[in-house]
Amino acid sequence: MTATIVDVPFIKFSRIQLRKPWHHLPYQWFNTFAPFCCRNGIIGQNQLIVPVFPVGFYSFFFYLSHRNLLIGEEKAMNRLFMRVIGVSLLVCGVLRAQELKPIYVTIRIDDIFLRESPIIPQEVDGFVEMCESHSAKVMLAVIPHRLVEDQNKNGEMVKALKRFVKRGHMIAMHSYKHQCSQCGNTAHEYNCSTDSITLPFELEARELAEGKQWLEAAIGKVVASYVCAGTDDPLHPQTLGIVKNLGFRWIADNKIHLPDFRDTLSFAPSGADYTWNIQDSAYTPMLEKAKADFVNAVAKGNYFSFVANDHFTRKNYNNGIVLKWTAEFLAFIDSFPHVAVHYVTIDDLKEEWSPQRP
Ligand SMILES: [Zn+2]
Ligand SMILES: [Zn+2]
Repeated sequence: MTATIVDVPFIKFSRIQLRKPWHHLPYQWFNTFAPFCCRNGIIGQNQLIVPVFPVGFYSFFFYLSHRNLLIGEEKAMNRLFMRVIGVSLLVCGVLRAQELKPIYVTIRIDDIFLRESPIIPQEVDGFVEMCESHSAKVMLAVIPHRLVEDQNKNGEMVKALKRFVKRGHMIAMHSYKHQCSQCGNTAHEYNCSTDSITLPFELEARELAEGKQWLEAAIGKVVASYVCAGTDDPLHPQTLGIVKNLGFRWIADNKIHLPDFRDTLSFAPSGADYTWNIQDSAYTPMLEKAKADFVNAVAKGNYFSFVANDHFTRKNYNNGIVLKWTAEFLAFIDSFPHVAVHYVTIDDLKEEWSPQRP
């Protein structure tokens, strides 16, 4: 005879394996009170029994409410406990899921591929692969005019873009050539701060339409997000009218901190750039700043974004410092308590944010 103590919520049962028919006799009272728990009128090989009467009395009421669980001998008991455990895990899982606050994280690299760069090779594969190792997607803001410049000699830029799109990353359009036609400055394109003018509507409309066509032909996919160059105003009425007319849906906006929807266009915050021209001495201070910003974002809402820039994201910029920095920051995000991190692109966010549309 073997006995095992099994914990149930309000009582302890001894499960006794009965090997001979007469072993059943002391427990005949049990049959009297609960005949329904014996299959075919006899007590099975393994029954739930209670050797002490008061405990048995208690258990009788337990049987009344759980009779089906006692009929099928040990298998039924196992099923009972599996169910109890399963339901408990489910309940715990639901509670846990409710406790975790979702936070959507976007990562963008601007200026793919920087023309004025001495850093070779021209690539962001290392950065993108590092992000992939954290299950993170990347938005690549591409200057379409680079497709007709040396950056795309032998079609290597197109090949790179297709490679990333195939793996679920997103391409946004980043202005047209990232250089002002009025003064030649590369820090703006259509809102000339040198001469305090806005470049002609026809020029901007023609160039942005052409850039979108080039980019979409290169990746074989609609490009729906637009990122202004440098100090250009993403909310300039002329630019907004043109990008809306061209079918863009998302505008990166460095002036807002939350997603916003106006006039059928969606405005997504750009996020800070922590690794611009980063040197070794700035590694730790910028990491601390980024961590503090993330903590703040979690406290305030459910969205966090940050930006990096080609060519700092290349493997050969300062011994891959931006790759190491970003990997350390993503590890911090991944292990952040009480949040469920979703690395997404702006295109992905369309679904999550759509209920907020007016
Ligand atoms: Zn200018
Ligand atoms: Zn740029």
